[in-house]
Amino acid sequence: MAEKKLSPMMAEYLETKKQYPDCILFYRIGDFYEMFYEDAKTASSVLDLVLTGKDCGQAERAPMCGIPFHAADSYVTRLVGAGYKVAIAEQLEDPKLAKGLVKRGVIRVVTPGTLTAEQGLDETKNNFLMSIFYDASGFGVSSVDVSTGEFLTTTCGTVKEVLDELSRFQPAEIVCNQAFMISGADTDFIKERFNLIITELEDGVYKDEAATKLLEEHFHASIQGIGLADRDLSRLSAAAALHYVYETQKNSVAHISNIRYYASSQYMIIDTATQRNLELIETMREKKKRGTLLWVLDKTRTAMGARMLRRFLEQPLIDRAQILARQDAIEELCGHYIDREEMSEYLNTVYDFERLLGKICYKTANPRDLIAFKQSLRMLPDIRQELGLFQSPLMKEIYEGIDEMQELYQRIDQAIVEDPPVSSRDGGIIREGYHAEADRYMQSKLNGKQWLAELEQRERERTGIKTLKVKFNRIFGYCIEVTNSFKDLVPADYIRKQTLTGAERYTTEELEKLQNEILGAEEKLHQLEYELFCDVRDTIAENVQRVQKTSHYVALLDCLISLSKVATSNNYCRPEINEAGRIEIRDGRHPVIEKLLQDGMFVTNDTRLDDAADRIAIITGPNMAGKSTYMRQVALIVLMASIGSFVPASHADISICDRIFTRVGASDDLASGQSTFMVEMNEVANILRNATTKSLLILDEIGRGTSTFDGLSIAWAVVEYIAKVVRAKTLFATHYHELTELEGRLDGVNNYCIAVTNHDQDIVFLRKIIPGGADQSYGIDVASLAGVPRPVIERAKEIAAELSDADILAKARELDCEPGFRQESLALEESGAGADSDLLFGAGDAPNGMVAERMPEATRGAAGSTADGTAPAGATTPAGAAGTEPALPASIRDALDYLRSIDINHMTPLDAMNTLYELKDRFQLS
Ligand code: ADP
Ligand code: MG
Repeated sequence: MAEKKLSPMMAEYLETKKQYPDCILFYRIGDFYEMFYEDAKTASSVLDLVLTGKDCGQAERAPMCGIPFHAADSYVTRLVGAGYKVAIAEQLEDPKLAKGLVKRGVIRVVTPGTLTAEQGLDETKNNFLMSIFYDASGFGVSSVDVSTGEFLTTTCGTVKEVLDELSRFQPAEIVCNQAFMISGADTDFIKERFNLIITELEDGVYKDEAATKLLEEHFHASIQGIGLADRDLSRLSAAAALHYVYETQKNSVAHISNIRYYASSQYMIIDTATQRNLELIETMREKKKRGTLLWVLDKTRTAMGARMLRRFLEQPLIDRAQILARQDAIEELCGHYIDREEMSEYLNTVYDFERLLGKICYKTANPRDLIAFKQSLRMLPDIRQELGLFQSPLMKEIYEGIDEMQELYQRIDQAIVEDPPVSSRDGGIIREGYHAEADRYMQSKLNGKQWLAELEQRERERTGIKTLKVKFNRIFGYCIEVTNSFKDLVPADYIRKQTLTGAERYTTEELEKLQNEILGAEEKLHQLEYELFCDVRDTIAENVQRVQKTSHYVALLDCLISLSKVATSNNYCRPEINEAGRIEIRDGRHPVIEKLLQDGMFVTNDTRLDDAADRIAIITGPNMAGKSTYMRQVALIVLMASIGSFVPASHADISICDRIFTRVGASDDLASGQSTFMVEMNEVANILRNATTKSLLILDEIGRGTSTFDGLSIAWAVVEYIAKVVRAKTLFATHYHELTELEGRLDGVNNYCIAVTNHDQDIVFLRKIIPGGADQSYGIDVASLAGVPRPVIERAKEIAAELSDADILAKARELDCEPGFRQESLALEESGAGADSDLLFGAGDAPNGMVAERMPEATRGAAGSTADGTAPAGATTPAGAAGTEPALPASIRDALDYLRSIDINHMTPLDAMNTLYELKDRFQLS
């Protein structure tokens, strides 16, 4: 009823807004994009704009804010960066010519997952939209990068596998069917962990017939030809992705020319926590590239190569033949040093083909983009000539795969001038001699200039005004300018046009005539040049598939050259690859730390792990000894070997692992707002549930986040569980030297420590790993090294002597190391957990990178049991077990009661944090 009183424009605005309820609507009015109502409130706070009001015919003014249209890009980028979607409604007709209300329509929806090259994307990484379809038979997962045209699809059986795909692609946005929201996946967690937005699409999008039709029409092929005829889940998710891309782009997306099905078991799985812990792509604290593995390995010269190398690291191979093929190529490149350097230089001039192609298909490419494209094509024959020398199968494949496309080069070269302007509308684009009609217009333009010069000369002579000039002005056109001092000499046939302060401007009949001819020719020329330019651009667009195939192989070549260069300059060796579970490294180095230290300062270390007697290494040693560095080094070497890279060692024999898990350090997560101990236990739970005999586990200081007794007990139980149930290869660093007791009592467990010696009063770190366990913690020595005042150190030594942990050790020695983990105990625990409403995931489906239960009680309960001083008992359930969940508060009154019941004096700071965390979570305040 209120709408009756609305002004016509606002009524239309609301009509448009109805179609884009989840977007912020930018509504073009004159030179501004305006936002109204809720959109205005949101945008004004996110963008720091002044909120005003607009009279729209109702009693209340509509909240409103606006931005100038020419600055729209940066505002859109900011809104999208903050997780909003923006719909842009343009004026579809010229306001001057419109009768009544100007026609407006949404021409583009900008969302985080569908950004294109123009929106300031990071060129070294992909920007994926992930589409997930769920039904009783499983998940279809498709990922598309609108900026490059890559489109991949797979199927998953469990939520856990979906999370692995999320870790792998790191999408900016998810679209899904409504059923996915009740599939057991915790979408709030996903949003937060992966920093993305999720949009549910209506069920209509997932109708099988329509989906098939959409895919067939887009790819100009039958569904069999596309390869998705028998893959129902993939087909529906892929069609939904495409549907969403169409809806948002409202433009040609012909560069999405292909979709590839892959089996998710094709790659090693590295969950997000491990990616972070190993600092593969960005450092933990500063989120920088410097100091990461990518930083060491990335010597690529093209944006496509940089993106591919990053994907290599996110998706290591597990197929021995594929790994060996890359190794062969890298070895051959190392042997052809000169050719390698030459190709590398050629690659330098190759622009971002893939994203240029996106612009070309979108018709947003400008004349300069075409020149960049041409220059990229120019080097292809030279690159291929070099490639012709190589013999290894992968190098031959690259040689075959690169299409020189010289006819496209010729076409651009003949049509477009070497240094064209950015604008495609104002001429100056087309070369002389390319098109006869264009040449004629150019000639008349030139002639016109000549005629004008002649006219100027003639008029000077006729009037005797020596300073008379013919000038051009965008608004008034051509004119004759006479300064005021010669005013008297102006002849009668001059017609006055404009008065300036020191001069008068005139025209004549002859000048009018010339002007019409010149400007007419110019206008026609610009229009023709624009058409010719579009022609060239569209010819390239017709060759999408060839360009994409070539850009794939150029990227691959770039990556292999990069890995080869790094292998040479860092003195890496080619590792052997086995499938027998053996990891042997001689003189291994940490690829990143060795770069950050001065030459030769890094101390090398050996490693031996296998599936039998050397399965678990317990590594003890004081703080700062080098334990963490050593363990990461092993993980990084295994990972490098799996992407086909050479490795920092003198010799290596590396087993293919299905996953690498790490839990490193305990002090770094405070900033994330979660209790460190909780995070630590989340990750331990995830590892214990998901690791297999083929996994490599790196566990660093498990249990450090809680009291000594708890920590030691948990660490002990975890090692037992891995030794008996999980049976994965494991490096376990600990400052609990009591754990060295496990050697000889558990199969496959061995002690190592990092050698230190005493020099005068101080300890000296030798950084060398040797068999055997550390006999003490050296904590006080480290404190002393760090400069803690003498009296404190002396006093600490006294206390330590009193509190000697001989008692613990004695008790530990009595422990029965046969707790008898049974498979049923885990099953039982999981079904119990499944009934718990606080679960993030369903039974048996503990997600990747987190635990199934949020349970601070694990800390509180454990703290209670150690208060009486009992030594750790052989724990029979793994960390994170459910069962004793306390009654948690459900209302404010309950919360107050709960708070009253807490005895703060008997809590550790961590207990307190955990309790707070739980409270916030319960009341959804976080
Ligand atoms: P821990 O985990 O035992 O406390 P870290 O692994 O963090 O010790 O190592 C502490 C520091 O020692 C590192 O920052 C590094 O600079 C140095 N370091 C570690 N390993 C080596 C090595 N093999 N050679 C040279 N320096 C090393
Ligand atoms: Mg450490």
